[in-house]
Amino acid sequence: MYVADCLFCRIAGEEIPADVIHSDPEVVAFRDIHPQAPTHVLIIPRKHIPSVTDLDSHEAVVMGRLFLVARDLARKEGIAEEGYRLVVNTGRGAGQSVFHVHMHLLGGRSLEWPPG
Ligand code: 5GP
Ligand code: ZN
Repeated sequence: MYVADCLFCRIAGEEIPADVIHSDPEVVAFRDIHPQAPTHVLIIPRKHIPSVTDLDSHEAVVMGRLFLVARDLARKEGIAEEGYRLVVNTGRGAGQSVFHVHMHLLGGRSLEWPPG
């Protein structure tokens, strides 16, 4: 559940400070330290799941909750109307650098497609 050398477990456990904008028993959201857009939030399950590749079927509900928190935060950030992007980098080749599963919520500027 909690991995002592995991950065995001430690942020969720309030051992490392972060700009936390949502916290509940299952899900935590905080602003990315290197924002790539005016709104750049990371939404994580409290449970240590390294990546989507490691997901178990019983984790479907908490992963679904990441979307619901993203929906609510997009409204609060005022980007729901114009649109936003939800990204889950999975594996090093796709740019995942922190191996505690997380959803990026990006918005507040126009976003190109396809991504790099
Ligand atoms: P990934 O590259 O794994 O998809 O995303 C990891 C994200 O975590 C990056 O966007 C990076 O800027 C962010 N990040 C890394 N270290 C910290 C930190 O200590 N605090 C916060 N708030 N974000 C971090
Ligand atoms: Zn973790």
